[in-house]
Amino acid sequence: MGIVYLNGQYLPDSQALISPLDRGFTYGDGVYEVIRVFNGKPFLLAEHFGRLADSCAKARIGAYLTPLEEVPARLLEKNGLAGDALVYIQVTRGTAPRSHVFPPPETKPTVFAMAWAFTPNPAWAQGMITILEPDVRWSRCDIKVTSLMPNSFSAQRAKELGAHEGLFVRDGVVQEGTLSNFFAVVGGEVRTAPLSNYILPGITRAVVLDLCEEHGIPSRETQVFATELAQVEEVFLTSTVYDVAPVRSIDGRALPAEHPVADRIIALFREVVRRECF
Ligand code: PLP
Repeated sequence: MGIVYLNGQYLPDSQALISPLDRGFTYGDGVYEVIRVFNGKPFLLAEHFGRLADSCAKARIGAYLTPLEEVPARLLEKNGLAGDALVYIQVTRGTAPRSHVFPPPETKPTVFAMAWAFTPNPAWAQGMITILEPDVRWSRCDIKVTSLMPNSFSAQRAKELGAHEGLFVRDGVVQEGTLSNFFAVVGGEVRTAPLSNYILPGITRAVVLDLCEEHGIPSRETQVFATELAQVEEVFLTSTVYDVAPVRSIDGRALPAEHPVADRIIALFREVVRRECF
């Protein structure tokens, strides 16, 4: 990883040491963000730091003392990353003797960040192959927590079945992907699950909904049921890692090869990236 950030210091990854009693290690007790970098410039930085602050507040993880907004740019510079990259930032509840109850309030959160060069998988633009997965996650999916075992299980199962992404279904509703938000086009209308404790408030999702509104593309935050998937015209996924990616198949059933609504949104999203980062 080269140079990483740990608790206020920039240092080689081999020297970034964390106690095994860190609650991120013993309890998976932390929150995180992944920020996309285009052309050496962090994209939607304020939105990611806003969500990180929200995650900390919801998880009752105390304020990290040093401001972190400068960390992505400094990590990029220190690692010579001038093109496309990802930055990962994690905040845990800190190091404390193992106990289910929270450590004393003076316990300092642990803050770790790293950056690496990133190129999207070209296969994604051709259409994601997806599978449906029972949503066995906890009921606070609105918090971006580091305890990602259910997401990891589903991502691994998708990979083993030759798919790119698993789509979580809870109470018959397609909620979101293992690392993405889910959109379907039904009767010309773009639909995505409403914000709730069952989905992450995706930053790319919000950009797409804003673009729909701005450009007169009909859209609605409403549940899409798994039983409706046979009738949908298009499906696409949004995330920091995927951008906006059309879906080619769900559980082996092909979706229409043409996806004009997704194509339009992809073009509009690229415009936003160009405007912000180039
Ligand atoms: N849903 C889940 C479960 C995720 O992990 C992610 C991103 O990692 C998303 C949705 C998409 O969110 P964003 O667009 O902010 O990357």
